[in-house]
Amino acid sequence: MTVPPVSPSRTARSETLFARARAVTPGGVNSPVRAFRSVGGTPRFIAEAHGAYLTDADGQRYLDYIGSWGPMILGHDHPAIREAIGEALAGGTSFGAPGEREVQLAETVTRLTGAERVRFVNSGTEATMSALRLARGYTGRDFIVKFRGNYHGHADGLLVEAGSGLMTNAEGNLGAAAPSSAGVPAAYAALTLVLDYNDPAALDQLIQERGPDIAAVIFEPVVGNAGVLLPTPDFLAALHRVQAAGVLLIADEVMTGFRLSLNGATGLLSLNPDLRCWGKIIGGGLPVGAYGGRAEVMDFVSPQGPVYQAGTLSGNPLAMAAGLATLRELEADPGLYRRLDAYTAELAAGLSAAAAAAGVPLSINRVGSMLTAFFQEAPHGSIQTYGDAARSDTAAFAAWFQGLLARGVYWAPSQFESIFVSAAHGPDELGATLDAATAAFGGMQP
Ligand SMILES: *Cc1c(COP(=O)(O)O)cnc(C)c1O
Repeated sequence: MTVPPVSPSRTARSETLFARARAVTPGGVNSPVRAFRSVGGTPRFIAEAHGAYLTDADGQRYLDYIGSWGPMILGHDHPAIREAIGEALAGGTSFGAPGEREVQLAETVTRLTGAERVRFVNSGTEATMSALRLARGYTGRDFIVKFRGNYHGHADGLLVEAGSGLMTNAEGNLGAAAPSSAGVPAAYAALTLVLDYNDPAALDQLIQERGPDIAAVIFEPVVGNAGVLLPTPDFLAALHRVQAAGVLLIADEVMTGFRLSLNGATGLLSLNPDLRCWGKIIGGGLPVGAYGGRAEVMDFVSPQGPVYQAGTLSGNPLAMAAGLATLRELEADPGLYRRLDAYTAELAAGLSAAAAAAGVPLSINRVGSMLTAFFQEAPHGSIQTYGDAARSDTAAFAAWFQGLLARGVYWAPSQFESIFVSAAHGPDELGATLDAATAAFGGMQP
């Protein structure tokens, strides 16, 4: 099959599908940022995906930097994962009873991460929600602490000054007071205390004043959901000091787990959290989440302990097979993380040079295969907080995004998201991306 070159006007099938979708689904999508609200234009309806490429309903091919928002670290339609799912499929799709694959995946996750126990759920949202209930059950305390612009899924108490789609769709409402969604009772939001990311003094002070009321501090060890933000060493040190006050430290590794290393950000940054949450890569493209950590804490989970948490489809055999195959591939390729890092470093350098040549202010934050190009004048790597990120020129980002899309490169459709590089991205993809990016910068109005 030869793929015709991308033409930005060829969106007829996507437009038709979007109209049909809007008639039957709120906003036409099942997750808000897919609707392209902040960048404009027609969201592309995707028909299939292979390697580093998406093909849309109009038969146009795009170089993909979303990777399904993180899971597709090996690229789409990886043969080992397809084979593992096929093998599981032949044995039935759901049992509602335990099976060997759950044991194998739990053994793999505990071995790679050092978590002593792990419980599988079906999404990252379920993982963080369950980890917080566990922290409250274990400590007997009600309050939790989160950081502005961090996103931990859509559970009520976590939709407080949250990042990701909430930041993207805020439409001039950045920095809105808690809660960040209608339908979250103020009484729930009141149990969530919000601080700025990378503000160790504020965290120390809060723990000093209210430590005995606080069950847990939940954080993104590398933020992906306000765009990429890196933690400062002082902030990481302050996070670990909360444990001395009997406050559990919960690293939300839903995005960073198995992405930044086989032991996620925890391994990369030498963290020592009490609990961790996973999602995305752990399911290899199927719906899986997980939470885990110290046995003493995890044994509070039902039926071992008094904290209830259950799931009809949890530990689903197809999902476990996809997750296992993904982790096996990652483990079998010791050079993989180095290659992802090298590609993304070259991408950052190329974007920086192209933006400078076109006179477009750009500030890049990057770690491993996660990267955000913020459209603002600031030294690379200097953006540290939600407030810093929010100063970006979202109209300039949208123009650049459309320029890339018109040239066949599908970037994340929001200024406040990370892009994800996969193992299927090679030198050809890097060259094509930088050509498209250079042209897109050049086409922007000064
Ligand atoms: C994606 C994400 C979640 C939510 O996971 P879902 O599977 O979308 O519910 C939670 N935390 C972080 C850090 C995420 O990136």
